[in-house]
Amino acid sequence: MKKVPINKDAYSASSKKSVGFEFLNDYYEDKKYRCKKCYKQDVYTAEQQKKTFEIKKAYMWQERFICNLCYQEMIEIKKELSEIEINYLKDKESVMRNKGILKRWLFLLKEYPKYWRKENTAQINFVQKAIDND
Ligand SMILES: [Zn+2]
Repeated sequence: MKKVPINKDAYSASSKKSVGFEFLNDYYEDKKYRCKKCYKQDVYTAEQQKKTFEIKKAYMWQERFICNLCYQEMIEIKKELSEIEINYLKDKESVMRNKGILKRWLFLLKEYPKYWRKENTAQINFVQKAIDND
């Protein structure tokens, strides 16, 4: 198994203050995990861990629990959701009149929490109402 040296100095300030920081190993090792979205087994590679904690400065106790493919899907959903929101803010009336967009919006809002993201209940209720009120 491939080992990648840990550079503790590159960790985020909050990680450095975290209990357990001083007990970190000297190396990252590949970690097997099962995706909580699609249940496929994936590997959190030593290189990916180094990038997450030392370049992206993620908190050291952050675990990976959805696979790369599901993560990419989640990013796409998030992107489309924010595009719809921007369109809505620009022209509320035409979005509210468009059943196709409203249904797509609702679908995406309900998909998003399946990726272990926070559900936007207020927005789901709002869009649901807009679809029903006709
Ligand atoms: Zn997955």
